[in-house]
Amino acid sequence: MQKPKLDVLYSAATLQQRLEALGQQITEDYQQAGIEEICVLCVLKGSFLFTADLIRHIGIPLRCEFIGLSSYGNAQVSSGNVVVTQAIQNSLEGQDVLVVEDIIDSGLSMHFLLQHLQEKKTRSIKICTLLLKPDHLKIKLPIDYTGFEIANHFVVGYGLDFKGLYRNLPYVGVMRGEH
Ligand code: 5GP
Ligand code: MG
Repeated sequence: MQKPKLDVLYSAATLQQRLEALGQQITEDYQQAGIEEICVLCVLKGSFLFTADLIRHIGIPLRCEFIGLSSYGNAQVSSGNVVVTQAIQNSLEGQDVLVVEDIIDSGLSMHFLLQHLQEKKTRSIKICTLLLKPDHLKIKLPIDYTGFEIANHFVVGYGLDFKGLYRNLPYVGVMRGEH
């Protein structure tokens, strides 16, 4: 039985409102660049809910690809040890790729992913993250779209987990105290 001690940071309604604006911005930007089709790369596991909701606000044709990354194990601090737990199934060659991530903390996972994508011969790469902890960033990253900048809290819900749990919460909450 889940009994999380959580404070709501972003309610389901707030998240959906922000996603609508993000989707519109993404649509406009690609349209203005004359790009008619994109490939959305969902970074598993954390961003599966965000991706599912975001793409419904993107108004240009898109394909979805998935990559599994793991950096944390069960700890709350970034290990910097990033591994691919699930490979991308199809070629990204010549594609305009929008990477969709749940949260960028130290930035080490995204840095690893960008290096991993270098050999894929994409046409362009943009980064969209729901959450960003700017004070924790250890490395400069070309982040194109950010849902919300947050303080250095450990957050769960809306795809984000603690020890595999809480991904199903419809809101983003901050974990307080012992857990
Ligand atoms: P980074 O490599 O940027 O330090 O961390 C990226 C990954 O760490 C995220 O994709 C996510 O899996 C995990 N992470 C970082 N901060 C949080 C957080 O506040 N809550 C949760 N649940 N995961 C986090
Ligand atoms: Mg993630």
